[in-house]
Amino acid sequence: MKYRYLLAATLFVGFATLQAQESVSNAGRWTKEQIQNERPAVVTPPGHTTDAKPGAMPSDAIVFFDGKDLSKWKGRGKGEDDAAKWQVKDGFMEVVRGTGAIQTRDQVEGDCQWHIEWCTPAEVKGNSQGRGNSGVFIGGYPEVQVLDSFQNDTYPDGQASSLYKKSVTLVNASRGPGKWQTYDIICIREKKDAAGKVIQPGSITVLHNGIVTQFAVQEGGKAVSGGLSLQDHGNPVRFRNIWARKLVVPPVKAPRK
Ligand code: MG
Repeated sequence: MKYRYLLAATLFVGFATLQAQESVSNAGRWTKEQIQNERPAVVTPPGHTTDAKPGAMPSDAIVFFDGKDLSKWKGRGKGEDDAAKWQVKDGFMEVVRGTGAIQTRDQVEGDCQWHIEWCTPAEVKGNSQGRGNSGVFIGGYPEVQVLDSFQNDTYPDGQASSLYKKSVTLVNASRGPGKWQTYDIICIREKKDAAGKVIQPGSITVLHNGIVTQFAVQEGGKAVSGGLSLQDHGNPVRFRNIWARKLVVPPVKAPRK
């Protein structure tokens, strides 16, 4: 009987270890060697975010969340039941597991800059993709991953500030669990000339805690406008101080000769 118990316990531990490894490699999509060789270097960010209060907004900010309510957001319900069901308290919103993603009611047209502050749980639970997972989706662009990537290994294109499964973050500029972090995201939308030829591809640039982590990555940007959606991945991640600015960025021209 004792032997059987021991066998079951060993099998369980073996299975759990295997699952954890699978999670880090994303079901074998990344080999151990690739994860080792392509793991983004850790950079300690300058710490311009304070934990006590959010940063100020610029005068031309289109405000989506100032810590008071979710009136500018909707959930997955339809009609009169479309309210966002995340919790709002103490100036932040928090994912309520199982209520689904929330999205802004309004969109921002054309090129734009977004600012989002977020915080993963101070109490560390889980590992890899199971720790402080959420995500930022700007309409027409891939997910900018939100994850507690502070001393938490996962596949490189799945960690914080990666474009999920599209582009590995340049460096790991994560602050620790329970600390407020910032994303400043610059979205350039695809532009075409009168004949329909693309003269400027869509691109996305991300600064994580003030550090450039994605630069002009040509992913997405085909839509002419987009709102913001935040992911419910089951972890109680918090957000605050969310705003956008419209940008007027002319297509890049060849230098004058
Ligand atoms: Mg996510």
